[in-house]
Amino acid sequence: MTNPSRPNSRRNASPYLYGEEAEAVARVLESGQYGHGAVTEEFERRVADFLGIRDAVAVASGTAALHLALIVAGVGPGDEVIVPSMTFCATVQAILAVGGTPAFVDVHPATLCVTDQLVMDAVTDRTRAVMPVLFGGRAIDLSRARKELTARNIVIVEDAAHAFGSRSGTRRVGATGDLTCFSFGPIKNLTCGQGGMVIPRTPEEADAIRRLRLLGVVQSQAQRANTTTYRVESFGLRYQLSNLNAAVGLAQLAHFGTTERARRNLWRTYRSALSSLEGVTPVDVDPDHSVPHLCQVRVKNRDAVFAHLRSQGVGVGVHYPPNHSQPAFAAWKRTLPATEQAAKEILSLPFHQHLTEQHIEHVVSALGQVLKYAGGTMCSTTAPR
Ligand SMILES: *Cc1c(COP(=O)(O)O)cnc(C)c1O
Repeated sequence: MTNPSRPNSRRNASPYLYGEEAEAVARVLESGQYGHGAVTEEFERRVADFLGIRDAVAVASGTAALHLALIVAGVGPGDEVIVPSMTFCATVQAILAVGGTPAFVDVHPATLCVTDQLVMDAVTDRTRAVMPVLFGGRAIDLSRARKELTARNIVIVEDAAHAFGSRSGTRRVGATGDLTCFSFGPIKNLTCGQGGMVIPRTPEEADAIRRLRLLGVVQSQAQRANTTTYRVESFGLRYQLSNLNAAVGLAQLAHFGTTERARRNLWRTYRSALSSLEGVTPVDVDPDHSVPHLCQVRVKNRDAVFAHLRSQGVGVGVHYPPNHSQPAFAAWKRTLPATEQAAKEILSLPFHQHLTEQHIEHVVSALGQVLKYAGGTMCSTTAPR
């Protein structure tokens, strides 16, 4: 069974299955070993090999990965964490989960990513960590800020939820030495159904994350079978990745070369089709190095463009409404001009591997039509149907 619903350009995002996922899940179901186990561990080894690193720790979600990474980075109550407002709310919730204070920063308008300068300008005596978000899959080079951050004992925790497979220079994201967090949620570059991964910096950090994800219990199944008790060695949460979910991820990883090429090609097809439109600026995800996660553009009159494309069945989206304007994070609101401008203009076009070139032509031509009407004062009754 593969991709039963045949998604098209009505969907903004969609998982893409290669066919072996269902068999892999069926084998786990037959085994009776659904929870954390051998399949999870094999998935960890395969991801580590793929990235060219020693170790990777699988967890239940990208949010869980961020939460555990901040714990092992030593972030706690009262600590400031520098984070772009332009991210999914999960990044910020992870900071609140450890009692930290989000220090929202602006982003570069062309990439929607933080820069060395934006980060350094936000550092205070209370800063404990920086969370660069690899927006749309684009790797972020903070090499100019790194020395200063290290000297001040500030840890970099990369939110690479969008960026599985992307490269920073010649290395894959996750192999650059920072604490890195991936998401394997339903619509990410690689999916486990739900899942995530932390790339630790040291074997000690890996051990700590492994303890934290299993309720602070470290005994193996075999040890447990032979004793009348178990040892809880630390604080911990129910954050492990199940064998069922890992089986999906393993099947996806075996085809990641295809995923990588397909997502790059889709982005390039969009970029060349969009180049003929006036008033549309793509957000640059650097597809020569990244495995693109989104195809985002900036347009004037975004809300009207969004409504009209939706009314024509084109699955546009907005990634993301900025966090510093969310009620839950109002206590940390500040003025972020580039983010606020982007928030009014960003539009995510349908972007998933079920799209054909014809779908992309259809989306771009619908966008072109709508923009003609949106040039002046757009009125909903005059737009094309
Ligand atoms: C998806 C996502 C997360 C959270 O990952 P989940 O697996 O959904 O918990 C965090 N940050 C960003 C930028 C994301 O897109």
